[in-house]
Amino acid sequence: MNNFDVIICGAGAAGLYGAYNLSRDLNVLVIAKRELTLCNSSLAQGGIAGVYRSPADSPEKHKHDTFVAGGFENDPAATDVLVNEACIDIGKLIELGADFDKKEDGDYHRTLEGGHGMHRIFHHADSTGFEIETTLLETVKKLPNVTIWENTLVCDMAKTPTGFSFLMLKDGEYITANSHFAILATGGIGRVYEYTTNSAIATGDGIAMAYRLGAEIKNLSYIQFHPTAFNDHHTRECFLISEAVRGEGAYLKNCNGERFMQHYDKRLELAPRDVVSHSIIFEANRTGSKNFYLDITHKDPEFIRNRFPMIYKNLKDVGIDMTTDMIPIYPCQHYLMGGIKVDTYARTTIPDLYACGECSCTGVHGNNRLASNSLLEAHVFSRRAAADINEKAKTAPKAYAPHIFDLHENAPKIPHGYRTQIRAIMQNTYFVIPNVDELMNGLEQVTDILTVLDNGVFEINRDYVEARSLATVAYIILTEAFKICSESEELPNMPIFEAPDEDRY
Ligand SMILES: Cc1cc2nc3c(=O)[nH]c(=O)nc-3n(C[C@H](O)[C@H](O)[C@H](O)COP(=O)(O)OP(=O)(O)OC[C@H]3O[C@@H](n4cnc5c(N)ncnc54)[C@H](O)[C@@H]3O)c2cc1C
Repeated sequence: MNNFDVIICGAGAAGLYGAYNLSRDLNVLVIAKRELTLCNSSLAQGGIAGVYRSPADSPEKHKHDTFVAGGFENDPAATDVLVNEACIDIGKLIELGADFDKKEDGDYHRTLEGGHGMHRIFHHADSTGFEIETTLLETVKKLPNVTIWENTLVCDMAKTPTGFSFLMLKDGEYITANSHFAILATGGIGRVYEYTTNSAIATGDGIAMAYRLGAEIKNLSYIQFHPTAFNDHHTRECFLISEAVRGEGAYLKNCNGERFMQHYDKRLELAPRDVVSHSIIFEANRTGSKNFYLDITHKDPEFIRNRFPMIYKNLKDVGIDMTTDMIPIYPCQHYLMGGIKVDTYARTTIPDLYACGECSCTGVHGNNRLASNSLLEAHVFSRRAAADINEKAKTAPKAYAPHIFDLHENAPKIPHGYRTQIRAIMQNTYFVIPNVDELMNGLEQVTDILTVLDNGVFEINRDYVEARSLATVAYIILTEAFKICSESEELPNMPIFEAPDEDRY
């Protein structure tokens, strides 16, 4: 029998760091639905924010910036935990071998990103996430108490009298595994949109499973649209031009090659992401053009190539030299602030079920995440989840009571095209500035799709599992957004602008 003390669904930064922090006495299974490095953690460019051996900085200043970016909707207790414990996890990552860039004097190079008042972002050039993910993978693979299954899709989970049962599809076969404790670390929901920076795994599976179990889901309509994804609308996965490019002095320009942020917000290019994304949409409506650019050509070419080697290479591959050419950009879906509601130990509202990383809602991000706070959140709260489980596991039951899943044998495949339909609805109704006139219509269409998928009996395969997750996530987002719009005059997710120095045209 596949019985474990703890099953962790997800092998990104949150899942792996959770596994690392669990007691070596516990028998742990970590699952990834595709290859291990295919996750949002691997894609993170800018870095991990936190005050670690920085006398000029302080957790209070970090908290202040987090609150300003988050529209003061942040959970104060969770944010205190985040900023005060950042030093523990940044220190631990360094100890485990994460190679953060250093200056000539040997101290760490802390970079600046939009919304931060201090240089406090630890980074590995512009591929910090991959550095962290591979460091954690190397560490966790060596742990004798941890089993890792990759290319294993968790199709569903059930609560049992002794914990949880998971139905998985591994090497074409259905497998059941049981645990006393479960951590959902399944990442984001980007694939519910046509255009996203997220990796292919980001279909919200963990959120949908938790929702079906009855866990509280919070602020799922709090979606972050990154202002500067590379504008290549021929591909669904949009390559990100990191915030750090603006942090290092790049200008945002409109279709006429003119800077425009001074008309919207006095923080200019370094305003928080939601402000910049909204400004781009306002400016697009004003000029009638969706052509926007990031321009860093005024900086030393050598510096650009060394500071952004990955971005430089990726752009070069599509014929753009960022040392001499402006980079075409446009906002796209990037991050989810809401998710499975958890407390400061990552406990969901279901006993013994934990959630951490992007699929969780700790409340630290308010309505708009401050750059580089999500890797930090993934580490701080997965460590705290592990600490809580380590304590509770001392009195956990010894036996397992497996759930018998219905395998839908000989059932047909789901009808073709649901995922495409859902993505089109989301792009049309809820992209940066919600389309209030279309919300109800979109919600009705998504509800119809979800009803078919929830009530119909279809072959349990990746297409079905992910389409059902996307429909569930879209349904929750649009229901929440519709409620906000009906109850107030305000549009959901409107950022707080700081009065510009120049008039708004
Ligand atoms: C392009 C990009 C750049 C970013 N840059 C930064 C940055 O500079 N700094 C920062 O702080 N944040 C950044 N972020 C955000 C940050 O990377 C993510 O929020 C964070 O890494 C999420 O980690 P996670 O462990 O929660 O999820 P992920 O790393 O996405 O991992 C999810 C895991 O869940 C598994 N999974 C999902 N569903 C299933 C299933 N049904 N069955 C089995 N396994 C499943 C996946 O296989 C994967 O292993 C960036 C994000 C993107 C997309």
